[in-house]
Amino acid sequence: MFISQANILFKLKPLVFKIALLFLLGITTNRNHLPTNPPSLYTMPFFGNLSFHNINHASKDFGNRYHLIPTAILYPNSTSNIAHIIKHVFNLGLTSHLTVAARGHGHSLEGQSLAPDGVVIHMESYKSPGMAFHTGDHYPYVDVSAGELWINILHESLKRGLSPKSWTDYLHLTVGGTLSNAGISGQAFRHGPQINNVYRLRVVTGRGDVVTCSDEQNADLFNAALGGLGQFGIITEARIALEPAPAKVKWIRALYSDFTAFTNDQERLISSSRDALDYLEGFVVINRTRLLNSWRSSFNPKDPVQAEQFTSEGRVLFCLELAKYFNLEDVGEIEREVDSLLSELSFIRSTLFVSEVSYVDFLDRVHVSEMKLRENNLWDMPHLWLNLLVPRSSIYGFAKQVFHNIVEDTSNGPVLIYPVDKSRWKNGTSLVTPEEDVFYLVAFLSSAVPSSAGKDGLDAILTRNRRIVKFISESNLRVKQYLPHYNTTQEWREHFGAKWEIFLRRKMLYDPLAILAPGQRIIPRANAKIPSSKNNLKELNK
Ligand code: FAD
Repeated sequence: MFISQANILFKLKPLVFKIALLFLLGITTNRNHLPTNPPSLYTMPFFGNLSFHNINHASKDFGNRYHLIPTAILYPNSTSNIAHIIKHVFNLGLTSHLTVAARGHGHSLEGQSLAPDGVVIHMESYKSPGMAFHTGDHYPYVDVSAGELWINILHESLKRGLSPKSWTDYLHLTVGGTLSNAGISGQAFRHGPQINNVYRLRVVTGRGDVVTCSDEQNADLFNAALGGLGQFGIITEARIALEPAPAKVKWIRALYSDFTAFTNDQERLISSSRDALDYLEGFVVINRTRLLNSWRSSFNPKDPVQAEQFTSEGRVLFCLELAKYFNLEDVGEIEREVDSLLSELSFIRSTLFVSEVSYVDFLDRVHVSEMKLRENNLWDMPHLWLNLLVPRSSIYGFAKQVFHNIVEDTSNGPVLIYPVDKSRWKNGTSLVTPEEDVFYLVAFLSSAVPSSAGKDGLDAILTRNRRIVKFISESNLRVKQYLPHYNTTQEWREHFGAKWEIFLRRKMLYDPLAILAPGQRIIPRANAKIPSSKNNLKELNK
């Protein structure tokens, strides 16, 4: 009923649509007149556990820069639990400022998984009905709850000789959390991001409706939720595509000093040799000493004598990182294939390093670094990450300025750089990418030492990130942020570009009071204090 009303409203645009948007954009400048802990939350019956105590752990995320305390945490044990609380908040309508955020593993960077004064839904508590594998035909899949960690799905799938196809670099993240962004990693050139490898979702919309959706059924909500930054509904269950799992991985690194040679090789590898490789990434190394030595704990140099003589000091270098999966019976053939592939590339010969690891160890590689950092109390530092999607046509201009003039060294954290080709990616999802088919993911994954006033301190890294953002916007490089973070609706409108109207239409349809995922700061919660219509009309008419 509500959905069809919104549809009609949308068809009557532009005037009615704009008036409705004004309502949607309604924000109180003074929230203090509203009760912080609405009594209705205390008294309503729940089947899950709604807790008003010990809520501090849901007030921070991996970014570790925001501390925003919720009113309550729901530990759900079913989808209907989640639907119940959202419907309750929705029915409070404009009398309330309550918001609701799903919290996966809380590994957002800018407070996106937080709900200040709202309700956080602790998705990891929702484990039933457990993982259900379907292995019978050519398209194996597993049904999981969205609060499941990818690492657990990997372990359970491997027991059946199967594995999901597309990953993130780190697996201690939830299905719902990565599907709400995209899930891009070194397999994306081949299989697309994780949002390409999902057959079906169960979603609770911002109205409290429970909807099963796929490409065939409620496709608009399916597409909206994929890459949807939690704005259209809470994903409670997902059907993930699987494939036969390999046993081993040949993992290769090699350095380039010439950016053109590096990117030419990367692009060639993702276009012509799709089946020749299973994973391709890369990273930038600026001003690092004894770099190759640091690789020796996990990799072996192909030519140890030459590798010993190589120096990285003071240089800007680019590391190509490749992986080829295999089973033990194919090892001879794989050696030949890999050697032939490498012979066509133009890396610095003395810097070729190779390793052979199990499939699990390869996929869970970042966890090894996590354990080391945790031992030294370095994991929970502020993380000032900036993730960009740079169109192919802009990557040289970008690299010249950013890697040679703005970033002075890469000692605060890795700087990833690798291309993907979205021509085979699913269309219509909420993910925002550059318009060109081939674009580069460039990720500045810096950690800051809070007490430092030096170049590893918060201010220095924030200033560097701001310089990068300023440069890309002034040079009109048509770069988009990944894991985007903005503070104003106008910035979000620019981010979405041509997709802004679609975003607003879907928001009106599925979360008209803007209850969900307030930490993304896209559209403020609508409540009774309607803002000055003049300002908003000005904004909408821009
Ligand atoms: P949270 O941080 O808890 O949530 C993130 C957002 O999604 C919030 O807005 C939240 O409300 C919403 N959300 C969470 N669950 C749901 C749900 N079930 N339904 C609807 N909305 C929901 N990303 C990549 O693409 N590729 C990588 O290689 C990669 N590597 C990473 C490595 C590390 C060490 C870290 C910390 C992050 C990495 N990320 C990567 C980013 C990561 O994908 C996102 O930060 C992701 O959101 C984290 O998942 P989470 O389960 O912690 O979600």
